[in-house]
Amino acid sequence: MLDKLNDVESTGLDALQAVQDEAALEAWRVAHLGRSSGLMQIFSQFGELSKEEKPVVGKRANEVKKALEVAFGAKAEQMRQAALKRSLEQEQLDVTLPGRRLPLGRLHPDTQIQRELFRVFGEMGFQVYRSREVESDEYNFQLLNFPVGHPARDMQDTYFIEAEGRGDNPIVLRTHTSPGQIHAMREYSARDPQDPPSVRIILPGMCYRYEQTDARHETQFDQLEGLAVGPGITFSNLKGTLADFARRMFGQDTRTRFRASFFPFTEPSAEFDIECFLCGGKGCAVCGGGWLEIGGSGMVHPVVLKNGGYDPARFTGFAFGFGIQRIAMLKYGITDIRYFWENDLQFLEQF
Ligand SMILES: [Zn+2]
Repeated sequence: MLDKLNDVESTGLDALQAVQDEAALEAWRVAHLGRSSGLMQIFSQFGELSKEEKPVVGKRANEVKKALEVAFGAKAEQMRQAALKRSLEQEQLDVTLPGRRLPLGRLHPDTQIQRELFRVFGEMGFQVYRSREVESDEYNFQLLNFPVGHPARDMQDTYFIEAEGRGDNPIVLRTHTSPGQIHAMREYSARDPQDPPSVRIILPGMCYRYEQTDARHETQFDQLEGLAVGPGITFSNLKGTLADFARRMFGQDTRTRFRASFFPFTEPSAEFDIECFLCGGKGCAVCGGGWLEIGGSGMVHPVVLKNGGYDPARFTGFAFGFGIQRIAMLKYGITDIRYFWENDLQFLEQF
């Protein structure tokens, strides 16, 4: 039995010498340490031994098992090291290769301009007032002095949403941010109907019109509107506010001018232009004569004040509004308003 064990040990160790790869190593483990190996057979014959033989053979068998296991472990480790060395040599990492740049997002040009406008008007004491995009005809038109059938409605072709039984007050996607004026004035005046507080807000947001789209017209666009209501507000406050805005937004030397106009919800009304900041007022391809048309403005119509809960005998106010994309187009030299919502990365990555 002891000779057999010596033989198992030497055969096993010799065979391990010849092992070259992982598959052969596994085959060796099965043959020399597995359940049907010579060593295990000796263990299974253990019961047939005499009382005197048992401790001697048992001790030797355990020694052989230990020796084979240790040799197997050493061989496996040696092969792992060899494989690691090979892979380090063959798959060298070239640390001089430039890395892959991670694509970094940034704010949409429309958002960038909005934030700049918020900052400028914030410095001037205006608060942002957000209002709903789905409106009723009443808020979008009637309360703003566009009665049913009024020809001024033609300037703002609208998306009406079919809803039975609403008569002259259908649901519309707002065509301008101005319905927010009524919401805001009603909210403010409800705080103290006898002596309502002054209002100084800007109303930003998306507006919708049924437009034939072209380079200057889109069916959806962002507007920013301003509203100030209080005792003793005059047209010169409006002019001063917009002149100050233009200087803060476009540069200290920027001049503004007003042209008489008509809007149903302001009286008197004026369109306001700023001196072209692209050419400094000399005249260029974008502005033509040196002035850029920015938006509309005027003194809040008494009917609108009343609808908002402000007595026109005691309160006056001004309002103004313009398209945010229009400002972005002028500022960045964008030639087509349709680029804004196309989600074309070649366009967006320029900002
Ligand atoms: Zn110009």
